[in-house]
Amino acid sequence: MHAVTFQAPGEVAVEQVAEPALRAPDDAIVRVDASGICGSDLHIYHGRVPVEQGFTIGHEFVGTVLDASPDVERVSVGDRVLGCFHTACATCAACLRSDYHRCRNGQTFGHGSKLGDLQGAQAELLIVPRANLTLRRVPEGMSDEAALFAGDVMGTGYHAVAHAGMRAGDTVAVLGLGPVGLCAVQAALAGGAVEVFAIDSVGARLEMAASFGATPVHLTEEEPKKVVRAATGGRGVDVVVDAVGDPAPLAMAISLCRDAGTVSGIGAYAGKGEVPLGLAWLKGLQLRLGLANVIAHVDRVLALIEAGKLDPAPLVTHHMKLDDAAEAYEIYDNREALKIVLTP
Ligand SMILES: [Zn+2]
Ligand SMILES: [Zn+2]
Repeated sequence: MHAVTFQAPGEVAVEQVAEPALRAPDDAIVRVDASGICGSDLHIYHGRVPVEQGFTIGHEFVGTVLDASPDVERVSVGDRVLGCFHTACATCAACLRSDYHRCRNGQTFGHGSKLGDLQGAQAELLIVPRANLTLRRVPEGMSDEAALFAGDVMGTGYHAVAHAGMRAGDTVAVLGLGPVGLCAVQAALAGGAVEVFAIDSVGARLEMAASFGATPVHLTEEEPKKVVRAATGGRGVDVVVDAVGDPAPLAMAISLCRDAGTVSGIGAYAGKGEVPLGLAWLKGLQLRLGLANVIAHVDRVLALIEAGKLDPAPLVTHHMKLDDAAEAYEIYDNREALKIVLTP
């Protein structure tokens, strides 16, 4: 079968690889009908996340169950399914607290041996461990490309807002309008935010956020702090989502947040950096950080997409063939696409 494999920094290839086979009593084999290219794949593409040469990448998928081990009960052969981007064991201490994203036995699709040694979804076939927890049936009538978002990008945007404890009637600011930030904008509005300030420096992304109902604020041509203060009686917003993941946006998030508000950092921070901790302390802020717990949210996210309250479709800018993955990665790396969907 064909699969997209990591070769070297800046280079992926479509290669012939061995077909997967059932191993554990709760595995499923899925024929991948659509897979996504994601910002996390770029970390691999650039060699920032180490993955072995020849390892199949990709972690967002929709497909059809071709085969299942005897303990797989929640989906059946022939079902259209979507996957979460990682698996969880359901029995470790973290899973028993429903913190599936911190599962000590979890495996992430397509991230090499360091993150569970699980081959990726940018392939014709995929083995899915812990299929009872990892897979969901695609609701009737939902497109592949919409369902694709539930187990990763939309689940992550939803998490950013839910993890902040946002309530109906709150005001929200979202920093960084990549796919996750745009999904966080939708999730905040779906959750009853009265005003969402969407902050970025790319005009097309600001326009898209505005089309969802957010108030667009240009990062450099306007002064986000002034705009947000003026609109909130000088207080700042109840919740700020940092969907970038660097010290500078985190510092801005702290400055935009009201006293005793919440900053939710969903972007991937790395290493050390300077943030105004004194200001965060003085304001009595809550900081909520970390990877999204998509397994905990995926059913609610699917329900919201099915009800039309979340709509990832506008984020899909490119449809390409799996065999053209090398070109697709170049396009994505050049920031010419928001979301590329690959089909066999
Ligand atoms: Zn992803
Ligand atoms: Zn676990």
